[in-house]
Amino acid sequence: MQIPGLIDPVPVARDITPREDGRVDLIGLPRQRIAELFETAGLDAKAAKLRAKQVFHWLYHRGMTDIAKTMRPWLAERFVIGRPEIVLSQHSSDGTRKWLLKTADDHEYEMVFIPDADRGTLCVSSQVGCTLNCRFCHTGTMRLVRNLTPGEIVGQVMLARDALGEWPKAGQADLSALGDDLVDDDGGYSSDGRLLTNIVMMGMGEPLYNFDNVRDALKLVMDGDGLALSKRRITLSTSGVVPMMAKCGEEIGVNLAVSLHAVTKDIRDEIVPINRKYGLEELLQACADYPGASNARRITFEYVMLKDKNDSDEHARELVRLIKQYKLPAKVNLIPFNPWPGAIYECSSQERIRRFSEIVFEGGISAPVRTPRGRDIDAACGQLKTAAQKMSRAELDRLAEEKQAALG
Ligand code: SF4
Repeated sequence: MQIPGLIDPVPVARDITPREDGRVDLIGLPRQRIAELFETAGLDAKAAKLRAKQVFHWLYHRGMTDIAKTMRPWLAERFVIGRPEIVLSQHSSDGTRKWLLKTADDHEYEMVFIPDADRGTLCVSSQVGCTLNCRFCHTGTMRLVRNLTPGEIVGQVMLARDALGEWPKAGQADLSALGDDLVDDDGGYSSDGRLLTNIVMMGMGEPLYNFDNVRDALKLVMDGDGLALSKRRITLSTSGVVPMMAKCGEEIGVNLAVSLHAVTKDIRDEIVPINRKYGLEELLQACADYPGASNARRITFEYVMLKDKNDSDEHARELVRLIKQYKLPAKVNLIPFNPWPGAIYECSSQERIRRFSEIVFEGGISAPVRTPRGRDIDAACGQLKTAAQKMSRAELDRLAEEKQAALG
């Protein structure tokens, strides 16, 4: 959806992406669309619907990647099951994993997996580059290339599950209804102990500037017959695209996070320039109106700590005042700034961050300080892409070979 105005994106909408050989990637398509394609390919309507249901289950529940192995040849001639190409993958000493991915038309974007004691969070990108130029954000220095398709968005989740090795193997109970040509049962179903438990739409791009594709991808992630991740475990982070926020709550229903980062007009205008279009009052009112927000499902305000910019005691008190004025069920995440080459800001001191956090806590609002993760692997969003651009083709090829060997 295009939103008029000076700092709007130039979305490139794409539904399905035929490959060079003409085959269509099934990942990212809803069941109904798969059924239509099967019908066009020659199945009668009833068979197409049944087969689409079966294939959908195999794609998203089993993580099937090889269509030729399990389907009639005529389907394998027409369709593929895609995954984003991995250009580079990195492992931090703290367990954080980061991947630089590439679309079929050669555009690079990133995803990050952050393991914790009680959860594993995948940070997913929605666009290649970004238009919004948030001044603390490395991705914001890159031009927007295009929106990611639903397949490229849900493909990140599929790829992460591949890499974490957590697809269940075929079970006995749920395969009886599948056709002989679909059954590839090697037994031993186990879906316990998921590693990937949470998703945050917080990678490259502004998800509400690619609303339709993000919604369609997240519906596949939430589908009970598919990846089956609860909406309560998915958070969409926006820099403040006010006109789309209610729609997000109504049509997707996931948790909301807002890149707030400042509590005065002047400072937010500088740090998060979309503030010049949708000001603080409008943004906070949209938060107050967000469908489904409650004390059990609080809105998260992201607040990056920038030395001598947004980190004073007065800023902390103003943050509390604003949250109370708008009666927001909110928590605040304080994020120590992770500098990148060319950044114009520095991170606030530990003592300053601690004091800021105390003031917000004293105001009755949770404000934990986030532990920086993956600093040894350029974990600031957008950094991996820059690092890869500095590498020679030979280095990248070698890393890709190592990665393939590691994946077996
Ligand atoms: S913080 Fe998000 S919206 Fe802002 S420039 Fe970075 S990727 Fe874009």
